[in-house]
Amino acid sequence: MRKETKCIEAGYTPKNGESRMIPIIQSTTFKYDTSADMGKLFDLEASGYFYTRLQNPTNDFVAAKLTALEGGAAGMLTSSGQAASFFSVFNLANAGDHVIASTSIYGGTYNLFSVTMKKMGIDFTFIDPDCSDEELEAAFRPNTKAVFGETIANPALIVFDIERFAKAAHSHGVPLIIDNTFATPVNCRPIEWGADIVIHSTTKYLDGHDATVGGAIIDSGKFDWMAHADKFPGLCTPDDSYHGITYAEKFGKEGAFITKATAQLMRDIGAIPSPMNCYILNLGIESLAVRMKRHCENAQKVAEFLQANENVAYVTYPGLPGDKYYELGKKYMPDGTCGVISFGVKGGRKAAEEMMKHLKLAIIATHVADAHTCVLHPASSTHRQMTDEELIACGVMPDMVRFSVGIENVDDIIEDLAQALEASKNA
Ligand SMILES: *Cc1c(COP(=O)(O)O)cnc(C)c1O
Repeated sequence: MRKETKCIEAGYTPKNGESRMIPIIQSTTFKYDTSADMGKLFDLEASGYFYTRLQNPTNDFVAAKLTALEGGAAGMLTSSGQAASFFSVFNLANAGDHVIASTSIYGGTYNLFSVTMKKMGIDFTFIDPDCSDEELEAAFRPNTKAVFGETIANPALIVFDIERFAKAAHSHGVPLIIDNTFATPVNCRPIEWGADIVIHSTTKYLDGHDATVGGAIIDSGKFDWMAHADKFPGLCTPDDSYHGITYAEKFGKEGAFITKATAQLMRDIGAIPSPMNCYILNLGIESLAVRMKRHCENAQKVAEFLQANENVAYVTYPGLPGDKYYELGKKYMPDGTCGVISFGVKGGRKAAEEMMKHLKLAIIATHVADAHTCVLHPASSTHRQMTDEELIACGVMPDMVRFSVGIENVDDIIEDLAQALEASKNA
């Protein structure tokens, strides 16, 4: 199946007389005939459902669709993108371990890594995605367990050189984790470029309608854990909490990562989305390919309009010829990048805020990447906890406006921007 077809058809095939849409199995528990039957599930000897804190069939239909779209081997949904980021790293790294992450990642992920996971004893080195080969080599340590980057960084719109970082990670025997939220599997499939694990905030384009918060983790099934068994004891030595099962032995390359993340992390932490939310997410994914095409077409026109506007200081959009990331964007996302643009308003922070006040169609929202056009000033909202130096280091200018182009008629979006930019002159 091609990607447009997978958006509609993958993950669930009704049998004779079954519902066309995925069923919402809104049940915490599942019934078994004998205790022995249930025991097999607890021992991971049989697959099946017993408690929705760990797994639910509705969720798994949608996870299977995303796994097909990303070209992975196994996948799971989480209650948020933050939970997906946390699980993807914590499934590999323990206290005393080290992870390399791009400086250009979502502010919430930066905070999770640099503050919360640091308190758990995991050390992070943040490196510039455009660093030299020497700098990249120097970041690796004997206890490094993973490399983490974002296909298109939110909100800096820096395109990550997936292939380059995958090669570096693999030469040190560790996997590359890619947050593919902004590109979506319709525009980029990081696994084809060497990524081992892909995560998403499904809250953004995948849901696409401001409706549900969620996350996803997809494993390529390609990383050979056993070949690096000394680095990954959690996957390659017996798990006492599962009667001595060794995940990489019992479930192989294809199943080890997601089985451990489900059986251990989801069991203990419980960041599971509700089946109802997964159903809504699935509705969003059905139209993903159509929406992404429109998002990219609209964003291209808006970026060109902004570039030509006298009140705009700079425009960042990887789809614009001349943009620093235009070539990388073309390589990884030949069909288009995303619908998010960032730009500066002449007159700085004050003029940017004035411009935003006058927008009528584009709403101010702590959100991005969905059907409705929305706008945000990262420095005073999502990235508020960062200093100006930290902001600049991760590619977020203090005067930058993040503009998320929706799928309305693009002429309405441009007219709205034109009048608000005109009004910004009075700031
Ligand atoms: C929003 C976002 C997240 C966090 O996801 P939530 O669903 O809000 O928890 C992670 N990564 C990126 C790129 C995001 O845009």
